[in-house]
Amino acid sequence: MAGILFIISAPSGSGKSTLVSELRKQVSGVDFAVSWTTRAPRGSEENGREYNFTTREEFQRMLAEGVFMEHAEVFGSFYGTARQSLKDALSAGHDLVLDIDVQGAAQVRAKMPEAVSIFVMPPNPRVLRTRLRNRSRAEGVVDEAEVFRRLGAARKEIENYREYGYILVNDILDRAVAQLEAIVLAERYYRNGESIAYRSRRVLEVAAACLQFNSQERLGPVLEAFGLLDSNGQQQLIFEEDSDEEDSEEEDSDKDKKDPHDD
Ligand code: ADP
Ligand code: 5GP
Repeated sequence: MAGILFIISAPSGSGKSTLVSELRKQVSGVDFAVSWTTRAPRGSEENGREYNFTTREEFQRMLAEGVFMEHAEVFGSFYGTARQSLKDALSAGHDLVLDIDVQGAAQVRAKMPEAVSIFVMPPNPRVLRTRLRNRSRAEGVVDEAEVFRRLGAARKEIENYREYGYILVNDILDRAVAQLEAIVLAERYYRNGESIAYRSRRVLEVAAACLQFNSQERLGPVLEAFGLLDSNGQQQLIFEEDSDEEDSEEEDSDKDKKDPHDD
């Protein structure tokens, strides 16, 4: 079986790590490329599991040696995917998921246009803020400045959604996981002729509905919420001062969800 390369991008806090970790529990043969980064570990992150953590000097040395298939500077830190991750996955006949930002995704697409690209959207800025805060809380510290920095970047990243083949709106987790799973199975079916048995029709329908060109209806409210449909120059993300009560809305629904960084 030829491995398929899946690129997943999303504004930070949208839920990509959660989705990828759920996908890998449910679908076998999907490897995850553990990136290299110069940022410090967060919460319960472990070297070699979520990331390979390194220094800026070491990262620059690796970059000069051509270790990375793509790299980018995101929020002031360097991130890169080692070429070796792809070699390992391909030699094992596995698919490979890259969780990379929009800059890295553009580099990979330019070299490997056959890669399947998926953009994950949060439903709206308020939910994104809540998720970023909840994650910070779970990691022990709510860094408001960092939360707002990532929120500010979200809209710019969302502007790149047109570059991606598939769009997921990560509102209800189970639904988004089922959609991601359907995309992987459908691509295996179309590219490798891999059987998806009795679920085939439903899986193919779910995946097809996530294709970017079939996503306008789902996308409209998200783009509007992020101020991207506004034609009269309103380019700012505007957050109403909300109460803790509103923040706790998703907090309650989050209770049973495991933080992927706890794995
Ligand atoms: P990313 O990898 O995109 O930065 P994470 O996967 O770390 O984002 O998710 C950010 C936070 O949002 C985590 O606390 C996670 O548990 C939570 N989360 C992810 N998806 C959902 C969802 N559909 N509903 C509610 N909370 C979610
Ligand atoms: P975080 O620090 O929240 O884990 O990730 C910040 C951003 O860096 C996310 O958009 C994530 O997708 C991106 N990222 C993580 N690893 C890589 C990588 O190897 N290359 C690139 N280009 N971006 C990465």
